[in-house]
Amino acid sequence: MIFFLLIKSYIMQKVAESSCIRCGKVRVFKRKWKEIPEKGAAIIHIETTCPDLECQKIVDAQFAEKREKRLLSEARRTGIKL
Ligand SMILES: [Zn+2]
Repeated sequence: MIFFLLIKSYIMQKVAESSCIRCGKVRVFKRKWKEIPEKGAAIIHIETTCPDLECQKIVDAQFAEKREKRLLSEARRTGIKL
């Protein structure tokens, strides 16, 4: 029984991962590529996108904004002036 619950929560997590953070629609497969690092095993990257193009644009913009903010705060912490 516990085993089934674990499987269920695992699947639900997977679904949550592959659903749009904004509208909750199941994200669609966009592209897949393989990265081969100098050491270790190859990493498979899978990129998904929201089926709603406008929504995906907004999500992309939000991510870009977050990334910028993080870079800014990192720069502040290390005392680098941008
Ligand atoms: Zn969406």
